[in-house]
Amino acid sequence: MQKPQQEYNLSDWLPTTPKEARLREWDELDVVLFSGDAYIDHPSFGAAVIGRIIEHEGFRIAIVPQPNWKDDLRDFKKFGQPKLFFAVTAGSMDSMINHYTANKRLRSNDAYTAGNKAGFRPDYPVIVYSQILKKLYPNTPVVIGGIEASLRRFTHFDYWQDKLKPSILHESGADLLVYGMGEQPLAELLRLLDRGVPFENIRNIKQTAILANDKEVERVYKKDNFIELTSHRKCLDDKIAFAKNFKHIERESNMVNAKTLLQNIGNKTLIVWPPFPTMSEKEIDASFDLPYTRQPHPRYRKRGSIPAYEMIKFSVNMHRGCFGGCSFCTISAHQGKFVASRSKSSILKEVDKLTKHPDFRGYLSDLGGPSANMYKMKGVDLSICDTCTRPSCIFPNICYNLNTNHKDLIDIYNSVNTHPDIKKAFIGSGIRYDMLVDDSLSEKDKTTADEYIEVLAKNHVSGRLKVAPEHTSDKVLKLMRKPSFDLFYKFEKKFMAATKKVGLNQQVIPYFISSHPGSQMEDMADLALKTKNMGFKLEQVQDLTPTPMTVAAVIYYSGVHPYTLKEIYTPKNKNEKLNQRKFFFWYKKENQNWIRKTLKDMGKADWIKQLLGK
Ligand code: SF4
Repeated sequence: MQKPQQEYNLSDWLPTTPKEARLREWDELDVVLFSGDAYIDHPSFGAAVIGRIIEHEGFRIAIVPQPNWKDDLRDFKKFGQPKLFFAVTAGSMDSMINHYTANKRLRSNDAYTAGNKAGFRPDYPVIVYSQILKKLYPNTPVVIGGIEASLRRFTHFDYWQDKLKPSILHESGADLLVYGMGEQPLAELLRLLDRGVPFENIRNIKQTAILANDKEVERVYKKDNFIELTSHRKCLDDKIAFAKNFKHIERESNMVNAKTLLQNIGNKTLIVWPPFPTMSEKEIDASFDLPYTRQPHPRYRKRGSIPAYEMIKFSVNMHRGCFGGCSFCTISAHQGKFVASRSKSSILKEVDKLTKHPDFRGYLSDLGGPSANMYKMKGVDLSICDTCTRPSCIFPNICYNLNTNHKDLIDIYNSVNTHPDIKKAFIGSGIRYDMLVDDSLSEKDKTTADEYIEVLAKNHVSGRLKVAPEHTSDKVLKLMRKPSFDLFYKFEKKFMAATKKVGLNQQVIPYFISSHPGSQMEDMADLALKTKNMGFKLEQVQDLTPTPMTVAAVIYYSGVHPYTLKEIYTPKNKNEKLNQRKFFFWYKKENQNWIRKTLKDMGKADWIKQLLGK
């Protein structure tokens, strides 16, 4: 049963101070983990997952959340030197996305900090924390992981500094980089260390990266199936070479039998070993079933709530990974294309636990995952997937080998609905509506898709269903790796019909992105007109933020698509970006003169009346 916070002992959380470590009778630690986020002991937060895995493997671990990097560095010294290594993560987001808006304006809050306060972590904490630790304890290994380290493992474009940066391993001075979801590589590292293998001899664990010397590189040349990427130095001089690298990086990050990737940086070579196989149901269940208190550490009690925690407090994550491959998204780059799904019993056990929480009022805010309706979906014939190089299973078309049956998902929704303490379970995660309305679905899958829409409309929407067509122009959607807008029309019609059938008053709220590569002013005008004609006044919109290790960021920087090397226009300057946004808000008086003039200039005077009336 879920205990209220006051019923937990302080020692139920992983220790954050030497005093708390002594409560567990730990005089010495094996690992000390530094995190840019507040410590929320919940499986949705990477630092807690890593901490609990290390504890589960039988090691003593402490977490130092949001250490002060500006004072006398006492937070970095308080546990002294751990027996095995320091671990460092920026937190659940890349710190630059956390700190700055798409316009590079500093944010005044931080959803991963108590009281929603900004300023509790530096820019690039992986680099800042690792460098401090290396200075204080030069002989203790530093392992970096989490999304910031993961997506910056190769030469990458940094939108905020507007330049290419080398692998974060190089800049941070860390010894080992764990990419993707860290459970498997970390468990392997701990097992080897436990067997007495010295850290410096552990150089080839899957799903990790190292900066190697010539001898180690020679060994890869002799044995391994590898690809040598263009060096960091050459990428700095040649944008096209940088773009070409990305195709290999994306492919090998999403392949069952991936190759080792090498990239020269100065006098070292980055070796990125292939990923572990997708976690089995048993493995992922075991991770979610670790003894989390599911609550923020009590140290935050007087510092205000943590918005990121409040958001997921009553939500359940059913799976990991996403096979959508959207050009602007980092999920498949970090979690991978293959979906790892929890068992029904593990999910229902968690739902039951949540209902016992003292604040629970009967409403689950989300039963989801990176995309709500990918639960249990995978290739029908896995041997075909074994050699597949597609970055997306549903773009440019839904793969004939993908099982898109929604039966297992509906079954879980129905079981959750029968729980006596659940009044309603909402689906807050995004839905891939192409897998619900695409003509290519098999008859069987079409039936479960229709059933899914009905179940969704009847039981799982809080009045507003958020979906993300992202654009209306098929040309831009193609670059985004998203389905044609025709499918959105189709889905909206079906959902509204299902809503009407059950007598509810519900809306679809579409999300859109401006300034994506390929999006020209005419495409934005098209977006304004099409959405107006559907009766929408848009609210959920954003400018593109080109995030490291995404197709969109590569195009933004290099000007070409990494797969075709064809030139692609990308709106870059502030004015262009602001103007693209104006079309979202065509209904605001202050934008209308400008829209009138722009439509005239682009030879679309006939659209003025349609969009703005007389
Ligand atoms: S074969 Fe199809 S289902 Fe399997 S990984 Fe490739 S695209 Fe996805």
